[in-house]
Amino acid sequence: MLIKIREIPALGLHLEVPLESAIVADALAGRDADLGASQVGVVLSVTRSDEEVLVRGRLIGSTILPCARCLAEVKVALEAPIQSLFVPAARAADEEAEDEADYLPHDGVAVEIGDLLRGALILAVPMASLCRPDCKGLCTVCGGDRNQKDCGCRVAFEDLRLASLKGLKLNSNQ
Ligand SMILES: [Zn+2]
Ligand SMILES: [Zn+2]
Repeated sequence: MLIKIREIPALGLHLEVPLESAIVADALAGRDADLGASQVGVVLSVTRSDEEVLVRGRLIGSTILPCARCLAEVKVALEAPIQSLFVPAARAADEEAEDEADYLPHDGVAVEIGDLLRGALILAVPMASLCRPDCKGLCTVCGGDRNQKDCGCRVAFEDLRLASLKGLKLNSNQ
């Protein structure tokens, strides 16, 4: 996504655009997201002063990810702030070394915000999504969804744990 620097008006540019599907696919790669159900857009204000271009705004959207425990579909809201200052490529390397701030290079003609938006989306996706806070997940023995039915394997597991606790107690009493 290119923004031509000379086309940025003195009062700045206001952009409300959907993210290119290639960027969305790239940022969500490996997350098992439902790309067809993903909607991601950005609201940006782009301003320039001399040779610097400031891009500020936020990314908003939603996607569908598998529950980390039971693999059910979970609709996840996506939101991330965006802020980067584009400076001429020759300066970008120096600024980066001096400052922690987010400086990105431009070639004097246009700023490429694709990488910036991809990075914002990667940050916006939660590390693990749950269909509900108390999701019981899949049974490790039979693979059944323990939210749907009690397959019985769980009882065996709890009996085992209880037995070992009782064992400890007996030992400490002796
Ligand atoms: Zn779940
Ligand atoms: Zn089971």
